[in-house]
Amino acid sequence: QPVNITNLIRDVVRSLSMAYNRQIHLYEQTEITDMVSADEQKLYQAVYILVDNACKYSDKEINLSLEEKNGQLLISVQDFGDGLSEEDQQLIFDRFYRVDKARSRKAGGTGLGLAICKAIIEAHGGRITIDSKLKEGSTFTIEIPK
Ligand code: ATP
Repeated sequence: QPVNITNLIRDVVRSLSMAYNRQIHLYEQTEITDMVSADEQKLYQAVYILVDNACKYSDKEINLSLEEKNGQLLISVQDFGDGLSEEDQQLIFDRFYRVDKARSRKAGGTGLGLAICKAIIEAHGGRITIDSKLKEGSTFTIEIPK
């Protein structure tokens, strides 16, 4: 069904910035067609997982952006946390994989979040990519075809 992505993202931001008492900056490209045909609850869950992780694995502010590029909607979630090694970047989308660090253990969780997120996005014909540097932070980007 038609889903308004802008509203969906704003809802996630509202919910998690309150839950974590965290600054989440939202950058919205203006004049984009932000309606996509999607499963609204699933898409909400996918975005929620990324922003929730950014909050769990960093303690600074978070940047979220929504833009349109080549007929795709791009949603990027940037954090300034510990980042991930090249090796871990290959593995984190696997079910039950968790980076063995005190931080992950402390944050709790099962290691399913990113696997679920990836499955949801791929079911919508999109993909998810990561750009990360150890000790600098991570950016996860969801691409959804319109
Ligand atoms: P849950 O299933 O409850 O979400 P989880 O957060 O451990 O548990 P994933 O969301 O799949 O599961 O994440 C897998 C692992 O990837 C995490 O345990 C963490 O080590 C690492 N990770 C995920 N997001 C980030 C991030 N933004 N910065 C650094 N590490 C991350």
